[in-house]
Amino acid sequence: MTAPSSNTPCAPTLDLQKVPVSELKGVGPKLAEKLAAIHIETVLDLLFHLPFRYQDRTRITPIGSLRHGVEAVIEGEVMGSAIVFGRRRSLLVKIQDGTGITSLRFYHFSAAQKNSLNPGARIRCFGEGRWGKSGVELYHPEYEIVGATGKSLEDHLTPIYPTTEGLHQARLRAMAEQALVMLATSKALPDLLPKELSQELGFISLEKALNYLHRPPVDAVLSDLEAGTHPAQSRLAFEELLANYLCLRRLREVADRHAAPSLQNKNSLTTKLQASLPFSLTTAQQRVSQEIAGDIARQTPMLRLVQGDVGSGKTLVAVMAALHAIDNDYQAAIMAPTEILAEQHYLNLEPMLLAMGISTVYLSGKIKGKQRTNVLQAMESGQAQLVVGTHALFQDGVNFSKLGLIVVDEQHRFGVHQRLALREKGNHDGTYPHQLIMTATPIPRTLTMSAYADLDCSIIDELPPGRTPVNTILTPDARRHEIIERISNACRDGKQAYWVCTLIEESEALQCQAAEATYAQMQQLLGDLNIGLIHGRLKAKEKAEIMQAFKAGNIQLLIATTVIEVGVDVPNASLMVIENPERLGLAQLHQLRGRVGRGKQESHCVLLYKSPLSDVAKERLSIMRQSNDGFFIAEKDLEIRGPGEVLGTRQTGLMEFKMADLMRDSHLQPRVKLWSEKIRTSHPELIVPLIKRWLAGSEQYGHV
Ligand code: ADP
Ligand code: MG
Repeated sequence: MTAPSSNTPCAPTLDLQKVPVSELKGVGPKLAEKLAAIHIETVLDLLFHLPFRYQDRTRITPIGSLRHGVEAVIEGEVMGSAIVFGRRRSLLVKIQDGTGITSLRFYHFSAAQKNSLNPGARIRCFGEGRWGKSGVELYHPEYEIVGATGKSLEDHLTPIYPTTEGLHQARLRAMAEQALVMLATSKALPDLLPKELSQELGFISLEKALNYLHRPPVDAVLSDLEAGTHPAQSRLAFEELLANYLCLRRLREVADRHAAPSLQNKNSLTTKLQASLPFSLTTAQQRVSQEIAGDIARQTPMLRLVQGDVGSGKTLVAVMAALHAIDNDYQAAIMAPTEILAEQHYLNLEPMLLAMGISTVYLSGKIKGKQRTNVLQAMESGQAQLVVGTHALFQDGVNFSKLGLIVVDEQHRFGVHQRLALREKGNHDGTYPHQLIMTATPIPRTLTMSAYADLDCSIIDELPPGRTPVNTILTPDARRHEIIERISNACRDGKQAYWVCTLIEESEALQCQAAEATYAQMQQLLGDLNIGLIHGRLKAKEKAEIMQAFKAGNIQLLIATTVIEVGVDVPNASLMVIENPERLGLAQLHQLRGRVGRGKQESHCVLLYKSPLSDVAKERLSIMRQSNDGFFIAEKDLEIRGPGEVLGTRQTGLMEFKMADLMRDSHLQPRVKLWSEKIRTSHPELIVPLIKRWLAGSEQYGHV
């Protein structure tokens, strides 16, 4: 740890972040391995590994007051025990304490156990009351035989920690106790929050908060603790969110010191583009384009996030920015997170820009051999003015001649780390390209604050005119034949339809199989229609041909996998059937549905679900029926599925907090923001220690 802050008069002698758990008594290599599996490697990790619930073993409940579903300690005298043969053999022990009688039931028991529970023995048990044959009983309680005097009870609530197989609560408790002692004697976690902050928000010290949460006093409000809203918990969450926010702001500060090419607003290409379009830009597109033009004219790199609902025309805004770069003799790159999305962009943009005399190339991992050599050569010589591709754009051995702008589509699938890595890749002799980040789906505000505090944000809050809201219907798959009938009628009326096959797994191969099976079935049932099939395993050229045929109206029904999620634009298609919609996230459903409702006629989306639906699935799908607003849907998705899913970072573990819960603690965010600004001006010396304490691997963020 670096120099102590003004709040810490005596320098800590011990850095708990550096003390491995193996230094604790009783922790050998095997246990250390188990702990590592749940991300506990140091004593600090252990202190931050907080209970998710508690048991009250501080007092004895009279047997007469036992309640179903409530955990309790009881103490009483054994009246008798017997082995009973019900559906399963069990040991039944009756005990009484003068207020009532209850039964203990054990399904696994030894002869010794049975013999020790003789009539007259006094036992103390802990368990959860459950309705049984003789009233409220305890199933498999923990118990001990107590002497006449009785042992003392716990003097604080008993913590239950998140754990893993083979790691017992008693072990975790014993280790936490040791860690707390180490904390108390070493004073190794000085308070890093400014005094005025703690005073204003009524925060206790970090050490006190940790002690409280590992061993809450008898009178602690259990319901608050279990909801995670206890002041001691909010205090920790606040500090963590603060550290996260400060880290992102710091990254931005570092970026602001970099140089970037000033891309002047020459307007010749953008004017040309607009003249070639059959429509004019929406007011929102114009506003956001101007914000971008202002940013890239400066000599520091733009870092801007553009949000807009599906179909709001983000691509055009990105292209306008790219044209500014090209107008200034710089190259621009558009990067998408998947091959399919990148291809779609390329197929859409290449002809449009070629008409303006601009050369566009495509690069992905799939481009190999001579073709690859040519593309790389064109990029390096500067002959390629726009480069569209996947991550492959920023791999070793790929060089730009003069890159002025990077556009990243659907950035929300990446975390801060990737964003930084990308930024560094663009570094050319200390000059950085401008960065424009577009999210395919809106991100709720609270998430923007914690996940994107290093970016400026623009919102395209308007759809192009002439869109009709899509009418969404939920139908169980038992009524599949009715839906097929409906497609048949619609297509005979000159309309076009999509049938989307989905699968739980992102496995493209399996999705294709499902689509192929549906295709075969539809050809049998609807033989008089022209039916097409499109999926990710087709070659780019084949996909383009099929889409072209669908656009031209030569295909009436298109069976597809989720490849059509983005970038497909056929206004005459007014009906979409999505199979197994319960398997997809709301944002993805919203994206898919955005493929219809692009023309004049009324559009319908049928969510053909597999019954029975779980309650959560029902709730989620009914949100799709209620709303066509991507921002609203994203908020709901966040409530139901949590930030990891919405940000697309669940698998990667990015944006995972130790204490904070972005939903539960969202009300803290405005104060987090306010105080981080105050700390930046009045207590800058606290920033690095805070970041180091809370952000594992913060070295990777560089410059910290
Ligand atoms: P998204 O924001 O979902 O990426 P796109 O950029 O793919 O949306 O645009 C969706 C469709 O809307 C495209 O066909 C595009 O040509 C069209 N479009 C974009 N801007 C306008 C506009 N101002 N007026 C009419 N259509 C537009
Ligand atoms: Mg898009």
